[in-house]
Amino acid sequence: MKRFLSNKIFKTISDVSGEMNLRAYVIGGFVRDALLGRFSQDIDIMVLGNGIDFAHKVAERLGDNIPVRFFKNFGTAMIIRDGLKIEFVGARKESYRSNSRKPIVEDGTLEDDQNRRDFTINAMAFDLQMESYGQLIDPFNGLKDLQDKIIRTPLDPDITFSDDPLRMIRAIRFATQLEFTIDPVCFEAIKKNAGRVSILSAERITDELNRIIQLSVPSVGFKMLLDSGILKMIFPEFVDLTGTEVIDGIGHKDNFYHTIAVLDNVASKSDNLWLRWAAILHDIAKPATKKFVPEVGWTFYAHDFRGSKMVPEIFRRFKLPLNEKMKYVEKLVLLHLRPIILSEDIVTDSAVRRLLFDAGDNIDDLMLLCEADITSKNLQKVRKFLDNFENVRRKLKEIEEKDRLRNWQPPISGEIIMETFGISPSKEVGLIKKAITEAILEGEIPNQYDSAYQRMLFEGEKLGLKQK
Ligand code: ATP
Ligand code: MG
Repeated sequence: MKRFLSNKIFKTISDVSGEMNLRAYVIGGFVRDALLGRFSQDIDIMVLGNGIDFAHKVAERLGDNIPVRFFKNFGTAMIIRDGLKIEFVGARKESYRSNSRKPIVEDGTLEDDQNRRDFTINAMAFDLQMESYGQLIDPFNGLKDLQDKIIRTPLDPDITFSDDPLRMIRAIRFATQLEFTIDPVCFEAIKKNAGRVSILSAERITDELNRIIQLSVPSVGFKMLLDSGILKMIFPEFVDLTGTEVIDGIGHKDNFYHTIAVLDNVASKSDNLWLRWAAILHDIAKPATKKFVPEVGWTFYAHDFRGSKMVPEIFRRFKLPLNEKMKYVEKLVLLHLRPIILSEDIVTDSAVRRLLFDAGDNIDDLMLLCEADITSKNLQKVRKFLDNFENVRRKLKEIEEKDRLRNWQPPISGEIIMETFGISPSKEVGLIKKAITEAILEGEIPNQYDSAYQRMLFEGEKLGLKQK
């Protein structure tokens, strides 16, 4: 263990602790990770006294005018050194009352501070006093839970989760991240208290949810969110994807399990959080569009379009950014069937051109999402789909090299049209522009200024416009 505490910073903290006669400990995630053999860059230091004063002393000792960022209201301070983020806080005791979300926070002992921690594996501390340097203080047998791969609360889970319901989502996050199981008693308490998440702010929920989404196998977390009843509370549209129905002996797949499989597939190929959100949302409108059509079977007509329309509302509720990130997700949801349609038909140049035009720079992510969307168990089918997509990719490359349509703007601008015919901004300008774009995408004319100019004259004439 000593090797994890060999960084000079710990020695400095230990020296300051001796000098100020304040006991200091490393606590929480750093200790957990160290015992798992991993070195964490985030270090939480807990002192039996004022964390901010202590941080200033440590900074002074480290020299180089190292800045201390502190938050007086929270009594915390932070130093960044050698890529390590070191946070200092005084030991606290928290007591929750049922009529308020916010705990009463008082100065506390080491024991108080360990009691208020979320899980046994997160409540362990390393002593930094000179005489007991590196000793593990583990009142709840966190080390054993770490070995047994168990997530468990230090105190009664029912109270722990009711006090701060975010801990339930954190339990699921840590279980997914570390590949641990949640202790059954604990999981029962989560089910019982799932409704309590209603007191949490959207920001706190989204923060933990995004952490789950960014793990390497996020489906594991989503299954637990579903089984615990928490998903129903925070993301009912997602829960609506569960289940299958059979009519005339024809069933459809469970779209929840399909979606989380797609999410895992995307996660294995890309770290992009927003692409992962697109995977989560790609079929979100299936329940709303589901219909059984005799002779045809189950249909989800226009679920791509309806789904993209559901994105803003969901993003708003989760307090996710309503900027180009959201636009990106909307676009991928909207376009997620296009490459499939392409791959089923004979791939014409114009269809590929249209897809390139609509997807722009997001074409690669779109293709990735579409390939991830293949979750069939039938290997022959999978092979066929993948072959088809390979074909689409090849075509995309060919056309892209030939026509350079990515982020393409038609060669004739509105200004040129207005100038040519001596007209002001009007419906006609739009019509002519659209007709030129169509002609290029359809391959009727090449993607060049001269031919587009000729086409403009032709279209203007059709509308009865005269050249100036
Ligand atoms: P990570 O590697 O994900 O950062 P971590 O354990 O450091 O894991 P943090 O969210 O950074 O997690 O929290 C630091 C420590 O603070 C935790 O280890 C835990 O002891 C405590 N903690 C954080 N959030 C809560 C909470 N909601 N309730 C109780 N204790 C918490
Ligand atoms: Mg941390």
